[in-house]
Amino acid sequence: MLNIVIFGAPGSGKGTQSDKIIAEYGVEHISTGDVLRAEIKGNTELGKTAAAYINDGKLVPDSLIIDILASTLDAKGKDIKGVIFDGFPRTIAQAEALNSMLAERGQEVSTVIGLEVNDEELIKRIIARGKTSGRADDNEETAKKRLDTYYNQTMPLKDFYIKEGKYAKIDGVGSIDDIYSNIKAAIDAVK
Ligand code: AMP
Repeated sequence: MLNIVIFGAPGSGKGTQSDKIIAEYGVEHISTGDVLRAEIKGNTELGKTAAAYINDGKLVPDSLIIDILASTLDAKGKDIKGVIFDGFPRTIAQAEALNSMLAERGQEVSTVIGLEVNDEELIKRIIARGKTSGRADDNEETAKKRLDTYYNQTMPLKDFYIKEGKYAKIDGVGSIDDIYSNIKAAIDAVK
């Protein structure tokens, strides 16, 4: 079972590269951001709670997101080739919860693809994406808050995964195909 975490700041290309990984390896996609946006669209209680955090560039509380992840993972069933976790984990508590969830299933994280992109490029990409994504959080003001949140709460995960020997550093600036070929090499090294 291939369990890939795709890790990086907002705008680092996680969604774009996830699509290519899914096409090649046939793994299931779990994007906590997509799950939350679907809840917001459906106007559910969870969606209403999440929207307040998302629109302010903050993280949705760990307890909520860990529950969402567990039920989304269970819904995928057992007959799958693996999973790409996109936008999860974002905190150490989430990473520990993921390790436990996978261990309960006799599995582990196979590799963490760390897309590294400088801030200037990230903000530029998010603003450009905002023109077509329709996402309320893809604007300059919220993007800056999201980056602060990333550095304060999510970045420590890089060391967490380096210590576990799982972090594959990928330069996230360049052509989509060149970046993907480095990702593919990192995945094939653990397959
Ligand atoms: P994304 O689509 O991954 O950029 O997520 C959009 C927003 O959803 C984030 O800025 C957070 O507010 C929220 N979110 C998504 N995934 C998580 C997570 N794993 N933990 C906490 N909040 C999350």
